[in-house]
Amino acid sequence: MAGKEIKPIDKAAVHRICSGQVVLDLATAVKELVENSLDAGATSIEIRLKDYGAEFIEVADNGSGISPENYQGLTLKYYTSKISDFADLQSLSSFGFRGEALSSLCALGNVSIITRTKDEAFATRLVYDHAGVITSEEKMARAVGTTVSVGKLFSTLPVRHKEFNRNIRREYGRLLTILQAYALIGKGIKLVCSNQTGRGGRTTVVQTQGNASVKDNIVTVFGTKTAGCMEWLDLAVTESCYVEGFISKPGAGCGRAAGDRQFFYVNGRPVDMPKVAKLLNELYKSFNSLQYPMVVLNFILPTASYDVNVTPDKRKVFLHSESELMVALRDALEKVYSPNKYIYAVNDF
Ligand code: ADP
Ligand code: MG
Repeated sequence: MAGKEIKPIDKAAVHRICSGQVVLDLATAVKELVENSLDAGATSIEIRLKDYGAEFIEVADNGSGISPENYQGLTLKYYTSKISDFADLQSLSSFGFRGEALSSLCALGNVSIITRTKDEAFATRLVYDHAGVITSEEKMARAVGTTVSVGKLFSTLPVRHKEFNRNIRREYGRLLTILQAYALIGKGIKLVCSNQTGRGGRTTVVQTQGNASVKDNIVTVFGTKTAGCMEWLDLAVTESCYVEGFISKPGAGCGRAAGDRQFFYVNGRPVDMPKVAKLLNELYKSFNSLQYPMVVLNFILPTASYDVNVTPDKRKVFLHSESELMVALRDALEKVYSPNKYIYAVNDF
């Protein structure tokens, strides 16, 4: 390799490569769009997929809409209406903050947006190229809100695209789990996801009705039987951490055979909490040795006591006093479960 010239890769290629790190898969793509709708104050979010999302993804909301002066800025990298300096990250209450999602989606697929604010009589349909530049603009009818469409996600990264299509059913499964996470925690938010395959009909796959409580959302998403097997938790874990949500009762047949359907949130933001999941599974095992609990748990914490800017997909959280919190959580849960302390045996089932 000696003597080979070191030179920069062209900008478009760099952008494409980096975008693939922000939008990792189908689930992150849709999650970013749903979060944008929530940040825009939407109470109704409709997700429409074609061929499990491989062909087409569309997220339509009744949020604030986008003002004409932002039509071009919104697909540019690091352009965001949500924070303007680093200090804002400390008191973050929105899902988005990096201004990367739309610019990345443009680099990875065919993006178009239809949007209208309350100040306009018509909506505008905008088509963007892979660099995020508007290529066409036309007026059309639509209620206030925004529809973002992404066709042929990952088609600009040929190798990834091939893998994506090959694993589409698995990608789709992960997407449904993530959508369930948002559906369960969204009080007063109607979330509907449907899929259409080939020339077949459209099937609704996740749905909530704008219920006022998480419990009602559990009933809508997982059914009355599952919801009936869950117990409300409401714990002041430490002075600054409060936990609320639902967890399977320790009774026989109330848990699940696999450690799935475990949903964790920090201030309503769905996140992965592998350590907390492990703790709950272990604790639950001492009351019901054969099953795992189903969990929907929201940690209410001061915004300055955790960091969600750890991984590009924002699923990982860094809690400042995690070990303390874990000890306190174990104690609190022990107390909740101990009146029922009883190890279920196989023949109880
Ligand atoms: P971020 O969410 O980090 O700001 P995005 O690339 O996801 O970055 O979005 C860029 C900007 O586009 C947002 O800050 C917001 O102003 C606007 N936007 C995106 N989606 C919507 C939507 N559904 N409704 C209203 N505004 C939106
Ligand atoms: Mg966003």
